[in-house]
Amino acid sequence: MLEGKYAVITGGSRGIGRAMAIEFARLGANVAILYSSNREAAEKTLDEMKVYGVYAYAFPCNVASFEETKNVVEEILKVFPTVDILVNNAGITKDGIMLTMTEENFDMVVDTNLKGAFNMTKHLYPTLMKRKSGRIINMTSVAGVMGNAGQANYASAKAGMIGLTKSIAKELGKRGVTCNAIAPGFIETEMTAVLSEKIKEAAVKSIPVNRMGRAEEIAKLASFLASEDAAYITGQVIQIDGGLCM
Ligand code: NAP
Repeated sequence: MLEGKYAVITGGSRGIGRAMAIEFARLGANVAILYSSNREAAEKTLDEMKVYGVYAYAFPCNVASFEETKNVVEEILKVFPTVDILVNNAGITKDGIMLTMTEENFDMVVDTNLKGAFNMTKHLYPTLMKRKSGRIINMTSVAGVMGNAGQANYASAKAGMIGLTKSIAKELGKRGVTCNAIAPGFIETEMTAVLSEKIKEAAVKSIPVNRMGRAEEIAKLASFLASEDAAYITGQVIQIDGGLCM
């Protein structure tokens, strides 16, 4: 379904990004993953991708940095002739109620989750424009759709991702580039592993499907959105949350 495509996935070393990288490779895409600091996890993901006989690379890059993302895109375009698919997935949380949330924790979350997507899209925009085809997939969250107490920074960044997605979809639609957002609910990854059992149990109770989601389930949706079959879907926020937010 993605044979011969060139994909870039930020935050591809672990969790949802890792599942997407492996699924894209399984479907025939060559994949460059970006990660923050966990080289070991990135290498494990690379090994799993290479099993499928595709080109796979991992680059350390702080997506919050305009300079670093500019440089990494230059590096990627040395090993890939082009980029067809960009997945802005890298994300962090620094939870806390407004009373205790520091300016630093607000900025860090917005800079990684939202500005990171701006940075990568900005630097790959000329490539996608010239190519007249392509896919951008932004990882938002149900928190960006409905808000979440204790996550003002994260929900703001994820709501911003939705505005970014719709704007880019409007700008690039005529050029054959689609831009969509995926809004997961509670997915089992290291990001949610830090939540207490009590919070997780309460979350599961509020999910009609009665369980947390799996990273692989997000990867299936992302691979469809990345495919030619999804050419008529753009500017959408697709929730994948077991019915949590409706
Ligand atoms: P995760 O398991 O914590 O993995 C985060 C990934 O992002 C890692 O690959 C990490 O790299 C990378 N990363 C973090 N900061 C970065 C930075 N500044 N620059 C580059 N890469 C960076 O997270 P996840 O649960 O898979 O979440 C993936 C995305 O889905 C995030 O945008 C998250 O907000 C969103 N999401 C997750 C859930 C959920 O329930 N898990 C729900 C809704 C939305 P290292 O390995 O080097 O640290």
